Amino acid sequence: MPRFLLRHALLPDGWHDDVLVTVDAAGRIASVAPDQSAGDAILLDGPVLPGLANLHSHAFQRAMAGLAERSGPTADSFWTWRETMYRFAARLAPADIEAIASQLYAEMLEAGFTAVAEFHYVHHQADGTRYDDPAELSWRILAAAEASGIGLTHLPVLYRYGGFGRREPQPRQRRFLHDSDAFAALLHKLAPAFRNRHDRRLGIAPHSLRAVSPEMLQAAIAALDGIDAAAPVHIHIAEQLAEVDESLAWSGRRPVEWLLDQGVVNGRWCLVHATHLTSGETLRLAQSGAVAGLCPTTEANLGDGLFPAMDYMAAGGAIGIGSDSHISVDAAEDLRLLEYGQRLFQRSRNLLAGGPDRSTGRRLFEAAAAGGAQAVGQPMGAIAAERRADFVLLDGEAPALAARRGDAVLDSWIFCGQRRPMIREVWVGGQRVVEQGRHLRAGEFAARYRQTLRRLLEE
Ligand code: ZN
Repeated sequence: MPRFLLRHALLPDGWHDDVLVTVDAAGRIASVAPDQSAGDAILLDGPVLPGLANLHSHAFQRAMAGLAERSGPTADSFWTWRETMYRFAARLAPADIEAIASQLYAEMLEAGFTAVAEFHYVHHQADGTRYDDPAELSWRILAAAEASGIGLTHLPVLYRYGGFGRREPQPRQRRFLHDSDAFAALLHKLAPAFRNRHDRRLGIAPHSLRAVSPEMLQAAIAALDGIDAAAPVHIHIAEQLAEVDESLAWSGRRPVEWLLDQGVVNGRWCLVHATHLTSGETLRLAQSGAVAGLCPTTEANLGDGLFPAMDYMAAGGAIGIGSDSHISVDAAEDLRLLEYGQRLFQRSRNLLAGGPDRSTGRRLFEAAAAGGAQAVGQPMGAIAAERRADFVLLDGEAPALAARRGDAVLDSWIFCGQRRPMIREVWVGGQRVVEQGRHLRAGEFAARYRQTLRRLLEE
């Protein structure tokens, strides 16, 4: 049984020194005991955190990060960005998607994310023709996860319509589309690859209330229940005011209100963005047990709006973070921006600390670790028995962490952004995947990624 000695570690009950962790052959933590000495254990000599889940990813979008920052002929918005994204998505071959995802997942691991929920909506060829194997692009995502060593919750996206009330999709959306039967068949084809793995989970992502009918939503959940009745269900919701207005016109109810009224939302759900909420919706969502999937850097980049994090967290709502479009892949930056959005709006400080005399960084990190683990449905998010042995070793020698201990480590990692990487090593299931701040296969992935991008963008 491998044993680790963690010099200074965040456990569920707070910070401890010299924590001896035993790990079983499957990579799960068997026992945790502070204040030990063990000369033969693997020493993680610095501050150690549990790994975070990145609960919202569209992997291919990493390759277009930075390419939608030029102003267009008319006012730019989420909807004009989406046009750029559709043009980019149309060019990608299966090998391109695998190359981009491998590079991205290595970057996520270097940033302290040890699992990702991949909200996977490009399924078919550019003209909508199925690949010989309809799961081709899902296998590419799985291959990228295997190569990088990241935990994967795969969420095939159900997408059928172009707008509320069964509007027909546009030709550019052909790569995304399924009917209920084809979607259920896809799930059944994928399921065996996800069974009995603590680092793999299969869930579903009805894309949004724009893209599925109420009947299709029900059928998709029923199909998933036949495979795994506790598996995650993620949905984009209320990211844009136009979506709220269209929902009101369609049903007389706002998107989150409509979904909560269906009586199906519970702890297996992740409502991604949920940006535009009334105070009533905020309270109901917090009480539902679902996770609000927040993507602060992408939401800022797209000009979505500001999630009411103070009221929601004060009501006990669960949150997690995702890098979504991957305009930034940095857990610390997303947590920082979550707090800074509130500060700029409220003109005050330490707003998400959760009470007097508490560390803002600690509260944000613990909330994202717990909510992220719940949203991806993997045993992670804490250094504790039965969880996967995921460790993030910060660089105790980094100037920004000098003479910091306990919560000050988290506050400094999250708020003192600096160019030098503050993460030294990352372990997933007891296996080291990042060393000296670099993924073990970083060079190989980056070379393939550069080659892929040259071809995609220069041809
Ligand atoms: Zn998204």
